[in-house]
Amino acid sequence: MARHLITSAIPYINGIKHLGNLVGSQLPADLFARYQRARGHEVLFLCATDEHGTPAEIAAQKAGKPVAEYCAEMHEVQAGIARGFGLSFDHFGRSSSPQNEKLTQHFAGRLYEAGLIEEVTEKQVYSRADKRFLPDRYIEGTCPNCGYEKARGDQCENCTKQLDPTDLINPRSAISGSTDLEVRETTHLFLKQSKMRDRLRAWIDTKTDWPVLTTSIARKWLDDGDGLQDRGITRDLDWGIPVKRGDEDWPGMEGKVFYVWFDAPIEYIACAMEWVDAGKGENWERWWRTDKGADDVTYTQFMGKDNVPFHTLSFPATILGSGEPWKLVDYIKSFNYLNYDGGQFSTSQGRGVFMDQALDLLPADYWRWWLLSHVPETSDSEFTWESFQSGVNKDLADVLGNFVSRVTKFCRSKFGEEVPAGGMPGAREAALIEDLTARIRAYEAHMEGMEIRRAAAALRAIWVLGNEYLQEAAPWATFKEDEAQAAMQIRLALNLIRLYGVLSQPFVPDTTETIREALRCEDMHWPDDVAASLEVLGPGHGFSVPENLFSKITDEQREDWQARFSGTRG
Ligand SMILES: [Zn+2]
Repeated sequence: MARHLITSAIPYINGIKHLGNLVGSQLPADLFARYQRARGHEVLFLCATDEHGTPAEIAAQKAGKPVAEYCAEMHEVQAGIARGFGLSFDHFGRSSSPQNEKLTQHFAGRLYEAGLIEEVTEKQVYSRADKRFLPDRYIEGTCPNCGYEKARGDQCENCTKQLDPTDLINPRSAISGSTDLEVRETTHLFLKQSKMRDRLRAWIDTKTDWPVLTTSIARKWLDDGDGLQDRGITRDLDWGIPVKRGDEDWPGMEGKVFYVWFDAPIEYIACAMEWVDAGKGENWERWWRTDKGADDVTYTQFMGKDNVPFHTLSFPATILGSGEPWKLVDYIKSFNYLNYDGGQFSTSQGRGVFMDQALDLLPADYWRWWLLSHVPETSDSEFTWESFQSGVNKDLADVLGNFVSRVTKFCRSKFGEEVPAGGMPGAREAALIEDLTARIRAYEAHMEGMEIRRAAAALRAIWVLGNEYLQEAAPWATFKEDEAQAAMQIRLALNLIRLYGVLSQPFVPDTTETIREALRCEDMHWPDDVAASLEVLGPGHGFSVPENLFSKITDEQREDWQARFSGTRG
């Protein structure tokens, strides 16, 4: 039995995520976690909400709530939606947890002792009206390059020029609109990543099995221009983890907090502590400390490509710099973007389908199947309603759903609601088992390798084999001449339904549960021996005909949804 630690990039707290966010980290991580569990391995699958930083403060302000209260509520909302999609986290934590606060302060203390932290005094824009320093992106003004009036202090959206807040003409606070700004001096802690460059490069060099997409991004940041830059890890904000070194105060850092990008990845570890403190597990160190049992753990992270630099460089710099035996990531699975119907998903414009809306429209498995079988693995991919309709109707309803329906209904009408006895399998059945075995082994290889689209195609091909067998064997015709032979064919087909339930569980877990209940089957073990797995349901075993597994999406529904989600979510 292997041990798999799996984390999904943690979603930011300020609102409900869209389907592009879901497919870029949480959903494929769930697929992998479910698969490894189904194979009998020990899995710890963690995710959390990322709760600190200015966007959370501003969202809370808009909602008219204290930020801590806002985050607590939004965490519950996100947790509920995650359950709705069947995301099987062992724990869904919070980066604002006391565990993460203590651990983040601990890491800062270790990095300080290792000489990897420097105090830097810099000039920053302060808004007297807002009574706060403004992060670059919260300063707006006219772009000196193109004249765009809503350029942000870090970049002009119109001409894409990188800016410094002091470049802006007529700068104002993006929070209040106030122009009463001044430049003040402030002192911050910087993590001396430049001193870690050789160690990080040596570590990246060992990752010869990583996708080029991942290592090329890391190398670019390591070596482009002046190389890896030191990074500010504190901010002048109220909401965040107070700056301390271990348990001690940090002179000069009073009233400051750690930057959200410093504490967010540490939550991967703190989340395991929360998992134990919530009474769900017993020993977090055997997953995270290589001196306490984690040296045989395989750690896989899932994330969108925009998160790769932080996971290949910044977080490893924190871990390696601490000088303590923490578990480092073994494999990073990163994704491109999912676009929406000819454009991009947009949270601010309400363009595209958001996770809560998706669950209001259709059951989770419909979305899980389409999203995973179209996951943006090697390039960006696009959600269109036509493609979604076709995926649901052709793959789920016509192939899997139709097979289950035909077999169970035919059996009920001819043999009653129990697995029929009689008949001997022949050459056709032997050929089917051979084909199934080859395809199942291919499916397993794709799942192990996290080749998700290929895995989905392999699974679909396994479903198709059942339909082809049914078409050729034609038990409805056989029945008229040789009842025992038809009984054998249907017995095999009923066992195939069970096999499909087992194999499909990582993709469509609710459907698997429906199948399991209809077949009244407790034994859902993985088919290491395919022939044996097709004899689990023996003659006389009772079942019931399940409700239609999948309803088809009509053209009217498709057109209605297309219009509804084109933008303007309030
Ligand atoms: Zn511009």
